[in-house]
Amino acid sequence: MTQIPASLTILIIDDNPDDRDHYVRLLKKNPDMVFCYHEASESKAGLDLVEDKHPDCILLDYSLPGLNGLDVLKQIKAVRTDIPVILLTGQGSEAIAVQAIKLGADDYLSKSSMTTEGLCHAIHMAMQYNYLQNKIMEQTQLLLTKERRYQQLIDGVHDYAFCWLDREGRIESWNSGAERMMGYGAEEVINRHISLFYTAEECTNEAPLKALAMAMAHKNFANEAWHVRKDGGIFWVSSQIDALFDKEGTLTGFVKITRDITERRNAERERQKLFDRLMQSNMELERFAYVASHDMQEPVRMVVNFSKILAQDFGNRLDEEGISYLTFITESGERIYHMIDDLLDYARIDGEDDGVMEINSMVEIHHVVENLGMLIQEKGAKITWDVLPTLYGNPMQFMRLMQNLVANGLKYQPPGNSPIIHIGVRDEGNEWHLSVKDNGIGIDEAFIRKIFEPFRRLHNWEEIKGTGLGLSVCKKIVESHGGKIWVESQLGQGSIFHISFPKESANRRIAA
Ligand code: ADP
Repeated sequence: MTQIPASLTILIIDDNPDDRDHYVRLLKKNPDMVFCYHEASESKAGLDLVEDKHPDCILLDYSLPGLNGLDVLKQIKAVRTDIPVILLTGQGSEAIAVQAIKLGADDYLSKSSMTTEGLCHAIHMAMQYNYLQNKIMEQTQLLLTKERRYQQLIDGVHDYAFCWLDREGRIESWNSGAERMMGYGAEEVINRHISLFYTAEECTNEAPLKALAMAMAHKNFANEAWHVRKDGGIFWVSSQIDALFDKEGTLTGFVKITRDITERRNAERERQKLFDRLMQSNMELERFAYVASHDMQEPVRMVVNFSKILAQDFGNRLDEEGISYLTFITESGERIYHMIDDLLDYARIDGEDDGVMEINSMVEIHHVVENLGMLIQEKGAKITWDVLPTLYGNPMQFMRLMQNLVANGLKYQPPGNSPIIHIGVRDEGNEWHLSVKDNGIGIDEAFIRKIFEPFRRLHNWEEIKGTGLGLSVCKKIVESHGGKIWVESQLGQGSIFHISFPKESANRRIAA
C-alpha cells in the first residue's frame, strides 16, 4: 500500500459550475487534508490540465458536452495510467459505471448521494487501487520480459530438446531445438503423449510411463535410449526428465531435456572396437613372442653348449682362424640367449596376474643386492637406500624393476669409476615417489625418452653388453601398477630414475 500525502491536487472536469463548487465545498470540510483544485468545464481543457498540473486524482463527470466522460477517460488512460480517475455519474447509471471500470476508471460515484466522507474515501481508495494496478502491471511486464528472455534462451539452445509435459506426460510446449531434433512442427505434437518419441518396443515395455514414474518418485530420471523421429529414423539420446511440483508438493508436470548423442555413441563404439582389436593383437603378439622365444631358447642353448665343447675338446686341432670363428659363434649364441631371456621376461609381465600382494620393499632390495653381489664387489660399488615403505602389487616384478635399474647404474659407468647408487623415497600423498640415483655416464638429453622403448640401446654390444629390453621391462612393470617412470640425466652427470607408485589405486585393487 502506498502512503497518501496530506496535501492532494485534485482536477475536477465537470461542465456544471454548481457541481464543481459542491465537490470543492465537500472536500474543504475534511479537516485532515488540504486539497488544491483545478477545474475544467469541458473535455479539451480537462485533458490539457492533466498534462500541465499532474493531479493526484481526477473527478470526471460522465455527461460532458462534446466528448462524453468515457471517451475522455479513454484518452486520459491512454497516456497516464498512473493518475486515478473517479467517474461521477447520475443516479441509476450502473451500466455506465461498469463500462467505466472496464475502460480503466479507478472508481465511480453517484453525484446525488455524495458526502465529504464518501468523496474523500473514494479518492483514497482510487489512489490505492491505482497504485496497486500500476504495480501489478509493472510486475507483469517484468515477468513477461523475463519469460521472453527465457524463451529466447531455450529456443537458442539448438542441441537440446526441451519438452514441457503435463502430469500425464502430454506435451504442453517445446523449444525449436526439439522441433529440429524430432522433425515435428509444434502444432503436431502439442497434447500428444511423450511416448510419441519412443520406439514401439519401448512403448510395449511401458518405458515412457516408467520414466515419468521414476522422475516423480526421485524428482528426476536420466537415461540413454533410442528415440524415433517423425520420418521414422532412430537416433540415440541422453535424456533427463525432471518432475515439477508446486509449493504444496503436488505434481504439476514434467520437463524433459533430450540430447542427440548418436555421433558420440558411434565414436565411442568405434574407439572401443579399435581398442579391443589392439588389445587382441597385443595379446597375440605377446603370446607369439613368448612361445617363439621359449621354443628358441633350447636350440640356442645347444649351439652355445656344443660350441663350448667343440672349443674344449677339439680346439687344439683348429688353427687361429678356426678358433676365432668358434669364439664368434659362442659369443653370438650367448647374445641371442640373453635376448631371448629378456624377451621372455618382457612378454611374461602381462601374463603374471598373481593379484595384488603386500610388497616388503626392504626385503626386495636385499634380494637385489644379493643377486648383484658379484658385480657390486667387482666394481667396488656402494649402494645405499632410505627406509622404504610397504607397497602393494607384485613383489617379484618390483624386485625385477629395482634390479634392472641398479644393474644399469652399475653397468653404465665411466671406466675406473666406483659406482655410488642411492635408492630414495618420498611420500607424495596419494603416491610414493621412488628414485634410483647413480654417478654414471649419464644420458644425452636427445635420447631420454627413447631409452624406454624396446631394443633401444645407446651403446653397441661390444662396448657395453645388453639387449635394450631392461628399461622396457621396468616401464611395463611400473605402468601395470598404475605408476609412471621417467629419467632425469645429463651426459657425464649421472642419472636419476624416478618412479611414481600409487598407494591408493593399489589398495583399491587389493580390496576389489
Ligand atoms: P640395456 O641395458 O640392456 O641396453 P636398457 O633398456 O636397460 O637396456 O637400457 C636402454 C639404454 O638406456 C641403455 O643401452 C643405455 O644406453 C641407457 N641407460 C640405461 N640406464 C642407464 C644409466 N643408469 N646410465 C646411463 N645410461 C643408461
